[in-house]
Amino acid sequence: ILHQKEKFAALGSLLAGLAHELNNPLSVVVGQAIILQELTADTSLTARAERIRNAADRCSRIVKTFLAMARSRQPARGPVDLDRLISSALEISGYGLRSAGVDVIVESDPAMPELWADGDQLHQVLANLIVNAQQAMQAVEGPRRLTIRSAYDAAARQAVVEVADSGPGIPAEQRDRIFEPFFTTKPEGSGTGIGLSVCRDIIDAHGGEIRLSSPAAGGAAFTIGLPIGERGAQREDEPQRRADVPRTGAILVIDDELEIAQTLADILRVGGHEVRTATSAAQGLHCLQQRDYDLIFCDIRMPEMDGRSFLEALRSQRADLADRLVFVTGDTLGMDLAALVRDTGAPVVEKPFDAELINKLVAERFAVRPLRESSRGEGLQGSRGGLQ
Ligand code: ADP
Repeated sequence: ILHQKEKFAALGSLLAGLAHELNNPLSVVVGQAIILQELTADTSLTARAERIRNAADRCSRIVKTFLAMARSRQPARGPVDLDRLISSALEISGYGLRSAGVDVIVESDPAMPELWADGDQLHQVLANLIVNAQQAMQAVEGPRRLTIRSAYDAAARQAVVEVADSGPGIPAEQRDRIFEPFFTTKPEGSGTGIGLSVCRDIIDAHGGEIRLSSPAAGGAAFTIGLPIGERGAQREDEPQRRADVPRTGAILVIDDELEIAQTLADILRVGGHEVRTATSAAQGLHCLQQRDYDLIFCDIRMPEMDGRSFLEALRSQRADLADRLVFVTGDTLGMDLAALVRDTGAPVVEKPFDAELINKLVAERFAVRPLRESSRGEGLQGSRGGLQ
C-alpha cells in the first residue's frame, strides 16, 4: 500500500484530472447498460448488458478512489478544539446511535491543548470511525457502547484519541487488510471499503498514526496518535484544492421502483456522491430524520404519498431542505411539467436518465451552495445534549 500511495502522490493531480474526465463518459456507460438490462427481454442480451455494467462499475470504483485520494489534499491547518470536534462528529450519527440504543461515553482530557490541524479532515476521520462502529454494533444484541476517549500525551506532544465499540470486533485474519482501499465486508452497495483508507491517509498527512487494537473485552478499538501541530505551520503555502474536482455530497433518491432508484443512485455514485435510496415518500422522510442530505431526488408519481405531497411534508417538517428537492418523472406526457415547476419551484428530471444531464444539474445545484457548511449538523438540534 505504501508503494501504491507513493505512486498516487506523484501522479496525484494527473490522475485526478484523468478521473474527472472519465467520470462523465463512465456514467453514461453505467446508466445505459442498466437501462439496456431493463429494456431487453432477451436474456442473453441482459447477461451481456450486466457484464458491461459490472465492468463499468469496477471502473467507477477505481475512479472514485482516485478522486478520493486527490481530495485527500494536504491538511489546511488551523486551530482545532478536539472536544468540539468529537461532539460534532457524534452529532452526525446522533439519531442512528440513539435509535440503536447505543450508550455513548465521551471521556476527554482537560489538559488537551488546542490542536493545529485540519478540522474538516479530522472531522471526517472521526465521523467515519463512529459510523463504522455503529454499523458493526448493529450485528450484536444486548448492550451497545461507543467510547471515545481522548488524552494528551505531553511528553510526545500528541493527542491520543481512541474510538472503541462493543461490536463483534474484527477477525484476526482481516486485521491487516481493513485499511486497504476497497477492502470491505459489507454487502454490495453499502460498503465501499475506502473509509478507513482515507482515514489513514488523513492521519498520515498530519504526521500521526492510526491503528487498530483489539481489546480483550471484545469489540474494535481504533487509536489515533496525532501530533498537536505547530501553530502557524503550513497555512500560507498550502496548495489550493483543485477547482475542477467536482464537489460531492449526500443525496437521497426516492422512487417506488427500486430498480429506478438504483439506476439513478448508480449514476450519482459514479460522480462520487454518497447515495441513499428510499422506495416510498414515508421512508424518505424517515431517512431525513436520520441525517441531512444535500440533495433529494423524488419521483412524482408514487402510490400513497406522491411527490407533491412529499414536498408539502418536507415544507412543514424540514422547510430548510425544501429547496434541495429535484423531481423525477417518467411520464412527461401525462402532466403539465411547466405548471409543476412554476408551482413548486423544484427542477424536474426525466426518465430514462441522461447521466450527463443529471451530473450537470447536480454540479449546478452544488455550486450555488457551499455544501459542507450547509449540511453539517444543522438538522440535528438537540442531539448533542441527548448523547452524553
Ligand atoms: P466500509 O465501511 O465501506 O466497508 P471501511 O474502510 O470503513 O469501509 O472499513 C473496512 C472494513 O473494516 C469494514 O467493511 C469492516 O469489515 C471493518 N470494520 C471497520 N470498522 C469496524 C468496526 N468498528 N467493527 C468491526 N469491523 C469494522
